[in-house]
Amino acid sequence: MISVAEAIQIVRQHTPTLSTERVQLQDALGRVLAEDVVADSDLPPFDRSQMDGYAVRAEDAKSVPARVRIVGESAAGRGWHHQLEEGQAVRIMTGAPVPEGADSVQQVELTTELKDGTVVELQESVETGKSIVKRGAEIQAGVTVLSAGTIVNAAMMAVLAAFGYATVAVHRKPRVAVLATGTELVPVDQKPGQDQIRDSNNYSISSYSQLAGATVERMPLTGDETSLLKSQISTAAQSCDVIVTSGGVSMGVYDVTKAALKELGAELFFERIALRPGKPTVFARLPNGTLVFGLPGNPVSVAVTFNLFARTALLTMQGATDPALKRETAALARSVKGTTDRESYLPAQLTTNDDGELIAFPLKWGGSSDFVAFALTTALAIVPAGMKSVEAGSLVNVLRLP
Ligand code: AMP
Ligand code: MG
Repeated sequence: MISVAEAIQIVRQHTPTLSTERVQLQDALGRVLAEDVVADSDLPPFDRSQMDGYAVRAEDAKSVPARVRIVGESAAGRGWHHQLEEGQAVRIMTGAPVPEGADSVQQVELTTELKDGTVVELQESVETGKSIVKRGAEIQAGVTVLSAGTIVNAAMMAVLAAFGYATVAVHRKPRVAVLATGTELVPVDQKPGQDQIRDSNNYSISSYSQLAGATVERMPLTGDETSLLKSQISTAAQSCDVIVTSGGVSMGVYDVTKAALKELGAELFFERIALRPGKPTVFARLPNGTLVFGLPGNPVSVAVTFNLFARTALLTMQGATDPALKRETAALARSVKGTTDRESYLPAQLTTNDDGELIAFPLKWGGSSDFVAFALTTALAIVPAGMKSVEAGSLVNVLRLP
């Protein structure tokens, strides 16, 4: 058995980076940047007012109340481009450029307009620089604001737009084929007969794959027939970068996934991990280079092993700088049991307490088949191998689930 960390390392080693393409900005959400994003202008591009008020010279408001003459107006998109002289003020709006000669903006609440709006009285003095964001104070032109390998989120879309990235270089989306094994399975639109259950894994695997930026092709159910499984894997390998199977990797008579892979000439990189749930997870590569993740059948094992290993591969393919789930530390809300020879990844809900500390509530669950309880899970709490139990209040590593 290898450790989870070793298995993740092996996945990263054997996963190639996919080619790049340019997409329209509106299609960039969730994609991984294949180029550094560089500011093409200063931000703000001019000295910008943070307030509605009057652009003035601080000098002119030294002794208050002070009266200054209103000589113009600067609005966002329509500035006042003259030199402000001694004793003058310009009416200014939030986001508007501050005129040359003005060194501060006094907010409108601390002023009164007099004489039909030709004079403003400043009730309070004003510090030099008040309510002005200087040109380039936020970002200077030429600075790299997002690095290649970053997954684009909604906030980053604004950054890309602000610097004129109408198209963005990203890595191609991995194509994933999803393939469930198991004689007991029927499709979702059928009522299970005697000894049957509906296939649910294909839906969770497809969804997790999409969350990891992949496109998905769902293959028909294969039962536990080695020959059918082999032909489905071969078909999928023609068009996909990654195949994710579920079921059929344990030690039972009908666990035929590994046999099918070997008969197809696949190289198996690992097949047993010191992990609970998910010990029999398989990682292999077909002769044509298609990667295969053979996940165990239990729906909870599927969720855990997909997110530890297959997700890491999908993000590595897209050139992500941090392809593995982020590790954080949380205090356990109640004690949990570990196991001697394997690391445990226990379903938990993350919250923060009043002091802002992360708390993990391990869910009561009925084992790796309890996918209804798992649906409320937001994170996995990690109990190291060899620990019989971990007490409430102890700090553990947690992984937030996508
Ligand atoms: P296996 O790994 O094939 O031994 O399957 C372990 C357990 O997971 C069995 O109870 C299966 O019925 C269940 N299982 C396998 N595949 C699926 C699936 N696609 N959807 C739901 N449950 C499954
Ligand atoms: Mg099975």
